[in-house]
Amino acid sequence: MRDDNCIFCKIAGGEIPTNAIYEDDDHKVILDMSPATRGHALILPKQHYKNIYEMPADKVGEAFKLAGRMAQTMTDKLKADGFNIVQNNNEIAGQTVFHFHIHLIPRYEGDGQVIPWKPKESTPEGLAEIRDLFQ
Ligand code: AMP
Ligand code: ZN
Repeated sequence: MRDDNCIFCKIAGGEIPTNAIYEDDDHKVILDMSPATRGHALILPKQHYKNIYEMPADKVGEAFKLAGRMAQTMTDKLKADGFNIVQNNNEIAGQTVFHFHIHLIPRYEGDGQVIPWKPKESTPEGLAEIRDLFQ
């Protein structure tokens, strides 16, 4: 499956040149053009899925399995001190390119980068109510 209007389909399919750091039959890993830190990369499945909701669970699993391996390799090669893995779905969650991708963000002491969220208060009742939704 491929979307002719999708930039990540064109990059993953090799129609648009990019800086790839890994490729296999199903994925291409490219350097982000506006990196959060040195080496910030994106895992792109070659198949077009708009977001995680549209992607079969086994494909999601394969992409995250690759994320685990990339975290190891990138941390070693880039001599990173830590690593963030981020995956955004829908505009409200910060998704700007609507082809599923996983952000691989090496972290360095003093890099000054913030992967943002604002912690809020919770109550025992509020947490229990959410937990009960899953029983
Ligand atoms: P998101 O906000 O999670 O959808 O992430 C989209 C990411 O894709 C951003 O970090 C952009 O900097 C990156 N990006 C967009 N277009 C390109 C491109 N042509 N090559 C590399 N990275 C891109
Ligand atoms: Zn696409």
